[in-house]
Amino acid sequence: VFFSTTFLPTSPGRSVANGGVADAHLQLADSLLQLMTFTEKLGQLQQLDGGISYNDLPRLITEGKVGSVLNEVNPERNAEYQRIAREKSRLGIPLLIGRDVVHGFRTIFPIPLGQSASWNTELVREGSRIAAEEANAAGVNWTFAPMIDVARDPRWGRVAESPGEDPFLTAEMGVAMIEGFQGEDMSAPGRIAACAKHFAAYGMAEGGRDYNSAIVGDRYLHEVYLRPFKAAVAAGAGSFMTSFNEINDVPASGNQYLLRDVLKQKWNYPGMVVSDWESITEMIAHGYSEDPKAAALAAMKAGVDMEMTSTSYNDHLGNLIEEGKVDSKLIDDAVKRILVLKSRLGLFQGARSRATRQLVPTQSRMQWAVQKQGTDYLETAKQAAIESVVLLKNENQTLPLSTTLKSVAVIGPLADAPHEQLGTWSFDSKKEDSQTPLTALRTALAGQATVNYASGLKISRTKTDEGFAEALAAARASEVVLFFAGEEAILSGEAHSRAHLNLPGAQEELLSQISALGKPVVLIIMAGRPLILTDLLPKVDALLYAWHPGTMAGPALSDLLLGKANPSGHLPITFPRAVGQIPVYHAHKNTGRPASADNWVPIDSIPVQAWQTSLGNTSHYLDEGFTPLLPFGYGLSYTDFSYGPLRLEKEAYGKEETITVSIDVTNTGKVNGKEVVQLYLRDHFASVTRPVRELKAFQKINLAAGERRTVSFELSPEELSFYRDDLTYGTETGEYTVWVGADAGVEKGVVFRTGE
Ligand code: BGC
Repeated sequence: VFFSTTFLPTSPGRSVANGGVADAHLQLADSLLQLMTFTEKLGQLQQLDGGISYNDLPRLITEGKVGSVLNEVNPERNAEYQRIAREKSRLGIPLLIGRDVVHGFRTIFPIPLGQSASWNTELVREGSRIAAEEANAAGVNWTFAPMIDVARDPRWGRVAESPGEDPFLTAEMGVAMIEGFQGEDMSAPGRIAACAKHFAAYGMAEGGRDYNSAIVGDRYLHEVYLRPFKAAVAAGAGSFMTSFNEINDVPASGNQYLLRDVLKQKWNYPGMVVSDWESITEMIAHGYSEDPKAAALAAMKAGVDMEMTSTSYNDHLGNLIEEGKVDSKLIDDAVKRILVLKSRLGLFQGARSRATRQLVPTQSRMQWAVQKQGTDYLETAKQAAIESVVLLKNENQTLPLSTTLKSVAVIGPLADAPHEQLGTWSFDSKKEDSQTPLTALRTALAGQATVNYASGLKISRTKTDEGFAEALAAARASEVVLFFAGEEAILSGEAHSRAHLNLPGAQEELLSQISALGKPVVLIIMAGRPLILTDLLPKVDALLYAWHPGTMAGPALSDLLLGKANPSGHLPITFPRAVGQIPVYHAHKNTGRPASADNWVPIDSIPVQAWQTSLGNTSHYLDEGFTPLLPFGYGLSYTDFSYGPLRLEKEAYGKEETITVSIDVTNTGKVNGKEVVQLYLRDHFASVTRPVRELKAFQKINLAAGERRTVSFELSPEELSFYRDDLTYGTETGEYTVWVGADAGVEKGVVFRTGE
């Protein structure tokens, strides 16, 4: 190792001047930069895929031509790559080893949309910590997560990977994940660097079609899409990833405004930016760059530090510098950011003293992770799955199931599908770890009730009724039917958008036939997105929306169905009545002709000539109204919660004053339960129009049966701030309504004013 170790950082101490990065990391990077050849610098900017470049990697690493490897999870191979980088390359610079550890590594947690439905940031943080430990044991030191793209279109396949429609909830979840992955000090064993992605507005893909253009006004971009990213900067996220889409006609990977002006200058972000997979050279197909050389120029100028898998930087930056088109200072800055991240991860210290620092993956460490999975990892994954499930209907207290039942039918393509219950991005899990609902219910009901199982449909997309007879027979032979329907893992995720959001295949037909038998039917849906439930809800007595719950889907759902656990999930995204209503979300704007929820009458119940008069000329759909089927924040419990009147200390506040809002919440039912208490705010008029209501705070509280608690929220000027007409961020004096309740549809609010 040639570089001086004098500057090796000893403490993670942050200084505000450097965007929160300790001086020692910067000094180490500077001292290394002085020793590097141009080829070695370019090498740091290159990330290669472990699978694709497998044969060449040892040589390229030795020559200092690779800064990072992605998608390699074999612990021995990663240890070997790291060893080559440290011992064989001229400067001994270790590698960033990246992987999409999105909702677990071996132990799979609910998909991020499901985790968000738990509204439990502590649990989400803990899940990410476990994912980091497992991944780090395989030699991974960097995850491409959290994805914090606000997603308001359930057609988009990657809605599964997002925390949902709300910028505040998304920011809270994203920060919890960053903290879980990185910890206080990301060089500690078992911690890995996070990557806030995709920067930016990827979730705004037009029509919900993946990779599609985003056309978004400046203010909306900052208010909604950039908010979670700003929070990620404040949380110290080690890296950012660009997005595939173009934003207002400029692809994200060549977007100087986003990367340089906003992220690196305005927000003073000290971390590194990686492109998405070949997203630099994809700027050619976008019609933005003429060839790879032009793409490299655009990306480097914009502020992309590392290139994922394509090689335009290494192929062209040399010439571009010679031609005077790129300033070599830009390259140094990019290299420095990458070295700083490696230093923050403690990777250089690993080179110096392996015993004390960053994990060196070995098979025995992997064993350790596996063993631990048997205890607290699985328990946490189960709890995360339990809290992610949303009870959407429970007529006649169908749930929890009675303990005196003697027979239960388990039906549906997702009742016993170990891989499908994991959802998208779960390739490092082991199928045999996955515990399905069928297995869990059989165990839980052994000696008590017969479980009559018939899948009815092999996979969700099956269109034939081949298995119906068997399923109907199982239903007839049972006192209650548990129908596990939904979407397989493959139906959501990257490049998996859908235009129809009904239950795929013949599932709905089978459900209708079962429902006609007259037995109580419980529908359990596993899916990567909100489905259209409008026609399904009337056919069932109870509905649990489980997203893709992960490894512990079975035990979690079994506990919920049998009343050993009480549902406490709430929707992180609005459920539309029909695909044609999309986008439909709670924080929308009013028109000049708002309709109210009560003056909408279904079209077929009124004569055509009355359409105009019954609705007025309001903003709505003639055939589907405008209200969603289920509002954002919605979720039921086996107990009931009542909310007392909302209390504010006064009616008028100074502009800089903090406002305390309190409410008494009581568990009025017979069982203990958790409630998600949500605070919404409306700013009635301002220099720009404001949403009809916005989520500003929430608390998930645990209340024993009969218990009452006062829940208080503090609204500081930050919660009242927005991007004003001149795009500055701050408050204006005005009139507001605040609501506190169990979903975005809460009715009674309290008005207050702010003055100078
Ligand atoms: C995805 C990213 C992911 C990357 C690496 C891309 O296709 O958009 O989210 O991190 O692949 O696997």
